Amino acid sequence: MQYVIPVPHQATIDVVGTDAKFPVRRIWCVGRNYADHAREMGHDPNREPPFFFAKPADAVVPSGSTIAYPVQTKDLHHEIELVICIGKGGRNISPDKALDHVFGYALGLDMTRRDLQSDAKKLQRPWEMGKSFDESCPITPIQPATKIGHPKAGAIWLKVNGEVKQKGDLNQQIWQIDEAIAYLSNFVALEPGDIIMNGTPAGVGPCKAGDTLEGHCEGVGDLKVTYRAA
Ligand code: MN
Repeated sequence: MQYVIPVPHQATIDVVGTDAKFPVRRIWCVGRNYADHAREMGHDPNREPPFFFAKPADAVVPSGSTIAYPVQTKDLHHEIELVICIGKGGRNISPDKALDHVFGYALGLDMTRRDLQSDAKKLQRPWEMGKSFDESCPITPIQPATKIGHPKAGAIWLKVNGEVKQKGDLNQQIWQIDEAIAYLSNFVALEPGDIIMNGTPAGVGPCKAGDTLEGHCEGVGDLKVTYRAA
């Protein structure tokens, strides 16, 4: 096969215990999946159907990176999230079969240009410029499900410069892993390489150039990313 322009680089995520990489196809993100976070954003925490938005695959950045504070924002927010990595595709997947489609789990940041997202909400415009920008998805290596199973509970937190800002437990997710996969697969055919960021606990807030973000999810991993000083 010949191409008329250079073929885009395949975005990948490291996998614990092997040199082989996980190729990223699409990044799906669940909105408002922890009741406390829904409340802090001014929404009803009742169990409304989940909704999804997306980031481009090449938004992934490996944990340990130092990255630039993004352009066009004065209010960059952190959202620490469990990431479900799909290994086997399917559509209309039932919740009781959903975990068979998981390759593994990672810990990621759904970095958000909150000012742009807030403007988009007010104007009833799409969220992409708030959510789907370059380097907006720092992520740890993936833990294969064959090694760690499927986490149903466990602490998840985020510190900025050593101070705890977000704190929750995976058991507070309104839509659990199996339900999120099942629901999303009713709208799009999932394929290997798709990943799902399953929402963030309460405590989202701003970070600035020079800040170091450290995240933890029990049994899944530890994430660290630094924004280059201005
Ligand atoms: Mn999020």
